Amino acid sequence: MTLPGSLDEAVAALAAMPTAVPVAGGTDLMAAVNSGLLRPAGLVGLGRINEIRGWQYQDGAALLGAGLTHARMGRPDFAALIPALATAARSAGPPQIRNAGTLGGNIASAQPTGDALPVLAALEASLVIAGPGGARREIPVGRLLAGLDLLRPGELIGYVRVPLLHAPQTFLKATARTGPSRAVASVAVVLDPARRSVRCAVGAVAPMPLRPFDAENWVSSLIDWDGERTLAPEALTAFGDYVGAACIPDPAPAVTLEGTEPGTLPPAVLHLRRTVATLARRALGRALA
Ligand SMILES: Cc1cc2nc3c(=O)[nH]c(=O)nc-3n(C[C@H](O)[C@H](O)[C@H](O)COP(=O)(O)OP(=O)(O)OC[C@H]3O[C@@H](n4cnc5c(N)ncnc54)[C@H](O)[C@@H]3O)c2cc1C
Repeated sequence: MTLPGSLDEAVAALAAMPTAVPVAGGTDLMAAVNSGLLRPAGLVGLGRINEIRGWQYQDGAALLGAGLTHARMGRPDFAALIPALATAARSAGPPQIRNAGTLGGNIASAQPTGDALPVLAALEASLVIAGPGGARREIPVGRLLAGLDLLRPGELIGYVRVPLLHAPQTFLKATARTGPSRAVASVAVVLDPARRSVRCAVGAVAPMPLRPFDAENWVSSLIDWDGERTLAPEALTAFGDYVGAACIPDPAPAVTLEGTEPGTLPPAVLHLRRTVATLARRALGRALA
C-alpha cells in the first residue's frame, strides 16, 4: 500500500497506478474485500494526509477535510459548528467504526444508509474534488449522489464545503434495533433564516437522500421568520405527513403491489412512511424549539 503525505501526492499515486483504489478508514472497502466483492490491484492509503483531517473557515463556510473521522465530527467543538452532522456522526456505527470511518468514505461509498448524506443534502454542501496536476473542481453533493456528476478516474474528494447557517439544525434516525446501527430511515432538517427556508432531506429510504421540496416550501411559508419561529402541533404533524407521502408516494391507481389493493402500499411500506413522517415532525419540532 502506498501512503502519500498530501492530496496531490495521492492523486499522483493513483495516476501512476490506475488499477489502485483509495482507502481511508477502510470500514466499507475492507468489508467489500473480505466478502470477495472487490479485489483491488493496489491501495493508496489516505490516512497520512494531514491537510484533510481537520477543517478551516472560508467565506462563511466550513471547509471540512474528507479525512475527518466520525469520532472527530462527534466532538463538542465540531458539534458547535455543524450540529446535525455531529449528531449523524455520533450515530454512525459502533465506536471502532466511528474511530476509523471518514466523511469522504461515507460520501464516496454513497450507501443509502450513509448518515452524513441527508445532512449534507439538507445543508446543500458541495465537494471539492482533487484531480491530476493540482486541478480542483467543485460540485454540489447532490449531483454526485444522484450520479449526475461522478468522480473521474484518479480523482479524490478533498474537502466538503458546508455553508455555516448559524441556525438550528437536527438529524434523527430510526434503526431496527437499539444501539448504534444503520438507519431504516433518517431525516435532517435545517433552518436557513437568511433564505427564510426550511430544508429537509430524508435518508435510507431510496438510493440517495430525497428532498421534499413542496413540503419545504409549504412549511417555510408558515413560519414567522422575523418573530417567534414556532409552529402549531397540527402544522408540524401536517409537515411530517407531507414529507412521508412525498418520499414514499402511493403507487399509481393502476399499479397493484403483491398482496395489496390496486394503488395502495403494503403495510411494511406504509409503516416506513409513518416512520419518516414521525422523524420529520420531530426533527422540525426540535429545530424550532
Ligand atoms: C459494522 C459497520 C457499521 C456501520 N454503520 C454505519 C452507520 O451506522 N452509518 C453510516 O453512515 N455508515 C456506517 N458504516 C459504513 C462506514 O463506516 C462509513 O460509510 C464510513 O464513513 C466509510 O468511511 P471509510 O473512511 O471507512 O471509507 P473506506 O472504506 O476507506 O472507503 C470507502 C469507499 O470510498 C472511497 N474513498 C474513501 N475516501 C475517499 C476520498 N477521499 N475520495 C474518493 N474516494 C474515497 C474508497 O475508495 C472506497 O471505495 C458501517 C460500516 C460497518 C462495517
